[in-house]
Amino acid sequence: MPQIINGKEISQQIKDELKLEVARLAKKGRRACLAVIQVGNDPASSVYVNNKKKACAYIGIESKSYELSKETSEEELISLVEKLNDDSQVNGILVQLPLPVHIDEDRIIRTISPDKDVDGFHPVSVGRLWIGEKGFLSCTPAGIIQLLKRSGITIEGKECVVIGRSNIVGKPMAALLLRENGTVTVAHSRTKDLKDITKRADILIVAVGKKKYITREYVREGAVVVDVGMHRDENGKLCGDVDYDDVAPVTSAITPVPGGVGPMTIAMLMDNCVETMRIREGKA
Ligand code: NAP
Repeated sequence: MPQIINGKEISQQIKDELKLEVARLAKKGRRACLAVIQVGNDPASSVYVNNKKKACAYIGIESKSYELSKETSEEELISLVEKLNDDSQVNGILVQLPLPVHIDEDRIIRTISPDKDVDGFHPVSVGRLWIGEKGFLSCTPAGIIQLLKRSGITIEGKECVVIGRSNIVGKPMAALLLRENGTVTVAHSRTKDLKDITKRADILIVAVGKKKYITREYVREGAVVVDVGMHRDENGKLCGDVDYDDVAPVTSAITPVPGGVGPMTIAMLMDNCVETMRIREGKA
């Protein structure tokens, strides 16, 4: 029987630790405030934004909401972000993605001050990650590192294969595994003989964006499998990029969907918010 990596439990553990830390920092007069900007009212984005605000309230961080109409222009959004960059009461800025198509996401991401970039998407944060400097980490990959470590899985010296090279998951995942001394291979849509590569993996991270794509033919017996995917199956049930029922029996450990990687993203966003308080305390 594989070890089922419990993201719900681990994310709760992290939020509880952060709550204590926030209370300790608050006693010293430190505070954190996260500005959350949503443009338009896409229902999935509204759910994510609400969950982020709830998590802030739970750990004791103030959140300020900016709900803008979907007609908001790029320039209007830029000026709001610039205003928040200059606001000393705000230490983190989050712009919920995706943005309406008339707004250039990259331009918005680059406008957020790197010192308030709690999503870790700014090129300065990305650069810091790759050169091993302290900085805000992309939340989903940072959450996966926590899942592995807190489940007693060693990364150092392991053969790690990441399927996917997106800027928000695949690439930062590879950088973080490398930082943990894993030996890392990144596969993508032009990779030849994907199965031969994934079967080498001690730790296989799947962020391919395709429903139940990875079956047991891709997995070495005893591997650890982390499923980043998030989809609805033909019955409307949540499922991942990994065909869980087929793959789980050949693994030593696996993340389920839901309840695996998903809850970790918000927990690590909260960690980035607390990081802004730690930096102010001079301990980061
Ligand atoms: P994405 O931007 O669509 O990237 C998918 C990656 O998979 C690309 O790099 C693509 O290669 C690669 N790929 C596609 N088909 C492939 C194939 N047949 N063989 C090998 N590689 C292939 O997706 P993403 O944003 O990274 O997200 C990945 C998944 O994670 C999605 O299911 C998404 O919903 C989920 N997700 C979950 C969370 C969470 O909090 N749980 C957060 C973010 C994302 P190319 O670069 O060559 O096109």
